[in-house]
Amino acid sequence: MTGTGGGPNGNGREPQNEQAFDALVVGAGFAGMYMLHRLRGLGLKTRVIEAGSGVGGTWYWNRYPGARCDVESVQYSYQFDPDLEQEWDWTEHYATQPEILRYADHVADRFDLRRDIDFDTRVTAARFDEVRGAWILDTDNRQRYVAPVCVMATGCLSAPNTPRFDGIDRFSGPTYHTGAWPHEPVDFSGQRVGIIGTGSSAIQSIPLIAEQARHLTVFQRTAHYSVPARNHPLKRAAPGETMNGAVPLGYDPEVTVEEIKAHYPAFRASAKQFATGLSYALNKDSALDATPEERRRAYEARWQRGGVPFLGAYGDLLSDEQANETAAEFVREKIRETVNDPETAELLCPSGVIGCKRLVVDTDYFATYNRDNVTLVDISDGPIERLTPEGLCAGGQDYAFDAIVFATGFDAMTGALNRIDIRGADGRSLVERWAEGPKSYLGLMVAGLPNLFTITGPGSPSVLSNMIPSIEQHVDWITDCIRHMRANGLNRIEATEAAQEDWVAHAREVAGGSLRSSCSSWYVGANVPGKPRVFMPYIGGFPAYVQRCEEIVANGYEGFLLS
Ligand code: FAD
Ligand code: NAP
Repeated sequence: MTGTGGGPNGNGREPQNEQAFDALVVGAGFAGMYMLHRLRGLGLKTRVIEAGSGVGGTWYWNRYPGARCDVESVQYSYQFDPDLEQEWDWTEHYATQPEILRYADHVADRFDLRRDIDFDTRVTAARFDEVRGAWILDTDNRQRYVAPVCVMATGCLSAPNTPRFDGIDRFSGPTYHTGAWPHEPVDFSGQRVGIIGTGSSAIQSIPLIAEQARHLTVFQRTAHYSVPARNHPLKRAAPGETMNGAVPLGYDPEVTVEEIKAHYPAFRASAKQFATGLSYALNKDSALDATPEERRRAYEARWQRGGVPFLGAYGDLLSDEQANETAAEFVREKIRETVNDPETAELLCPSGVIGCKRLVVDTDYFATYNRDNVTLVDISDGPIERLTPEGLCAGGQDYAFDAIVFATGFDAMTGALNRIDIRGADGRSLVERWAEGPKSYLGLMVAGLPNLFTITGPGSPSVLSNMIPSIEQHVDWITDCIRHMRANGLNRIEATEAAQEDWVAHAREVAGGSLRSSCSSWYVGANVPGKPRVFMPYIGGFPAYVQRCEEIVANGYEGFLLS
């Protein structure tokens, strides 16, 4: 079919080809893959458009050394198909990037997803055509896709953020961004490497790059809190061992895979009762009611256990600053115990609220600074001024490198959507609509953009939750909504401005009660210069959010206009 009509295509050239579908999905990460499976189940002719050459999204792009999950593998996985759940065997407590990518590939094979995915195709523009009652998507390879329904499964952490340092292209050696790592292994042997950033991606990769490089220089703008992962092979049942009653509430790393599998539905259901959608041992008591000795024992036990459940030691760690400080100081003491050079240790000690920025989970991060070939450079007062042909200049000092790694994160939550020129029927772009921060109804739809759904968008629990269950909840909600529309002869759904405003106000009010909104994190857009400061994910918790989504459906899709 030849292209019809004009309109923006984001690259200034007319598309060569137009194809029509019942539904379009942008992105083939865990969200887009499951969305395709469900839309096919409704009998819809669906096409997924994916910029990468394969499925897996985050786990396709983030191939840096040490990349792995910090949610336990038995929890970070799909639950929509019991057979899939039973047949897949995770090997480690926290799965590596290659293993998660193998899982994504396995799912794509098992459900024969690839035949409906167009890879190596980036959507550049999407506009709603009122006359055709359809979304028209244009791409960087001059394809045009048309369908009445469009689902943006573009990811929350998929738009890499590379700061616009002066002379960014002047460095003569290779540069790498952790979120767009090459497919072939990078060998740093014998090299002088500089790494910018000390967030999760940096903290995972620094110990491994340090083992390889001749010298590694870490540029730290802000020290981050990190707790040990204590990763290990997953526990297996002994031959003939019988399963005991039920998996206890609060996931215990000592539980065997066989026990989890024997009780998977109950285990998953219990996880959904947690604010994060993640099962872990949670003590609801106040840290301030415990004696210093009791607190120390509690923090030490969790430090030895490892992982983000550290913050579950007490119920008020994310709501009371004084309580939070007791946990923060415990971690600082651990850093001072671990790092031999007192000056470096002090620089590595974060100030402020632990858990405000996402708590990092590491393997041997702080101990890496005891190596002779690792140097920490504090750039809190002397920022990176420019890149030079030899390296970079920070705080007035020149540094020479053979390679530079940007571990500078993402334009989170809004970046991937805003990089597409999305326009409603009125011609207004999403960028204009979100000029003062993202607004959505439930993180699922944006007023003025009919029939366009977002998965784990701003305004939903999203990055504050175990993402795969959150993705499944969104996909299921969207599928039910489309089924409802088809059953009732409806072809258009749109969030009302009033419902959107109410939801945004509610989300902001809830965020105000949490210490999480109190610092300059990517949750509030602080990592991208010029980005409006709004706490983007919904912090009211997964159960409360799901309940609200269900009530809205029960009330006849309250807050949505259906026609
Ligand atoms: P993504 O996996 O980001 O997939 C989005 C896809 O959309 C990408 O493939 C992208 O190429 C494509 N896309 C975007 N824009 C376009 C466009 N314009 N045109 C075409 N295609 C486009 N979450 C957890 O719950 N636990 C963890 O431990 C965890 N670890 C993480 C580790 C890293 C390094 C990162 C970066 C994120 C991590 N996350 C974690 C969050 C992770 O992003 C989600 O868990 C999940 O993988 C998101 O799936 P998704 O399908 O929504 O998005
Ligand atoms: P990040 O947490 O945003 O960290 C980016 C780092 O780069 C920060 O240290 C930041 O400093 C620094 N930085 C940014 N711009 C800079 C500049 N202009 N000059 C100097 N330093 C600069 O990004 P990330 O580490 O990629 O992680 C993003 C998120 O992805 C995580 O929070 C997490 O949700 C997810 N993730 C998870 C895992 C996991 O363990 N499962 C691993 C990786 C990523 P400031 O702190 O001062 O801004």
